[in-house]
Amino acid sequence: MEKVKNELVFFGGLHTVGGVHVLFGRGNTGLMFDFGLKLTPTLFNHAVKPHPKKEIQQLLYTRLAPPILGLYDVERVKDVNEDGLQNMWKMNSFPEYSNLQIFISHMHQDHMALLPYAKENIPVYMHNDAHSLYKGLTKSNEKLLSKAKIVGLEHGEKVTFEDFELTLFEVDHNSPGTSGFILESPEYTIAFTGDWRWHGRHPERIDRFIQECKQREIDVLITEGTRIRNETLWDHQKTKKEQTVLEEFTSILQMKPGKLYVNVHPRDVERLVDFMMLALESGRSFVLSKQVATTLYHSLIEGISVLKEHPIINRLAEINVLSESTEGLNDLPFQAISTDEIKRSPEKYCIHCMYEDLPLVSEFEVDVKSNKPSYYVHADSPPLRNNDPLLLEWLKNFNVEYHYLSNRGHAQPEEVSYFVNEIKPKVVIPLHSPQPSLLVTDTALKYCPYYGESVIINELIDGKSKGEFK
Ligand SMILES: [Zn+2]
Ligand SMILES: [Zn+2]
Repeated sequence: MEKVKNELVFFGGLHTVGGVHVLFGRGNTGLMFDFGLKLTPTLFNHAVKPHPKKEIQQLLYTRLAPPILGLYDVERVKDVNEDGLQNMWKMNSFPEYSNLQIFISHMHQDHMALLPYAKENIPVYMHNDAHSLYKGLTKSNEKLLSKAKIVGLEHGEKVTFEDFELTLFEVDHNSPGTSGFILESPEYTIAFTGDWRWHGRHPERIDRFIQECKQREIDVLITEGTRIRNETLWDHQKTKKEQTVLEEFTSILQMKPGKLYVNVHPRDVERLVDFMMLALESGRSFVLSKQVATTLYHSLIEGISVLKEHPIINRLAEINVLSESTEGLNDLPFQAISTDEIKRSPEKYCIHCMYEDLPLVSEFEVDVKSNKPSYYVHADSPPLRNNDPLLLEWLKNFNVEYHYLSNRGHAQPEEVSYFVNEIKPKVVIPLHSPQPSLLVTDTALKYCPYYGESVIINELIDGKSKGEFK
């Protein structure tokens, strides 16, 4: 089969939230965006996991990783049955490019979790702030280390490939450095949003992205549409702004609960440090696990641009790490604190307690007789939905009050429509959504590719691709 030189190939994240794998191919260059992993709901869950020694094979065989073997560490894929892989994808061949590269939009695992399997020295582009967070994550979890050559970029920075160039643009999302890009070739322009919202800390980035797209007259816009689904399509309630979430947390602190557990996503570094400051100002200091403390500290010292002047930088010594000894805390500027110390004066602390940390609640609650209620604040961290049954069961068992503070990381369906209508691309490809075809647009042709589909870009723009335009 003749090699296609001008294509978009869609491997993942088309009808799921996360796991977007789109290969752009032009000349000898194949650029994969993104490189993450959507594990649930798929054939895997917390109990059914890929075998530790054959992870990437099993992820490839279940179509959770893009089947371009040149993207991966040679050692890890040397035993992969490529004929079998083609059989799984019902494809006679896979695209081949001598110059493969990767773009990662941000540090949520559904966009970056395949990084540890990446090929030695393969260039991986990401925003510098995402790179700092990645370095923090690898300090606390060596399994995330990668042999790839990570290239950190600033907002507006360009990378030139053969006859086309990619410019990175920051967007608004709940992880530092989240970015999309605009790709310009002599024949067409393509914009990719990564994950985005319009109600977060940086809505101006979305306004700016629209302006940049308008100036370049985008032919193909690939946008995420997480909230485009039957049950939310007619939901016109405005999503809370980030400032409102901070105010709600302040109100909770003012209620002066006894013990206060907080589940905020450690990769939402901006919210985490704001919560820490609010807690400190109310007389409570945060208690982190060693893992979260390590990630946070190393991300901050690597440098997250928007946090360079953050007041938490001067108050790191007031942060505690839950640990029965100071062992292993040498490189951290935090204090070790034991469970017993916290139990003696719980109103002085705010205990970071993620989903997997829930058993800690039993240790803290088992023998304490207090007239003050304990609170659990759940603020956009797994489990992402409100009222998770297991979480509620834990809290009910120990009589802990549940407070759900959430504003989500993604735009509302009507905002996605407005965004597309402003940019006016010739074709829009919505993905990272359970029901992308429900996106409503004015003039743009809407194209929903199928898994493994290769689209010739010029044909797509002319409305002649063989799949269905909506
Ligand atoms: Zn995502
Ligand atoms: Zn995300």
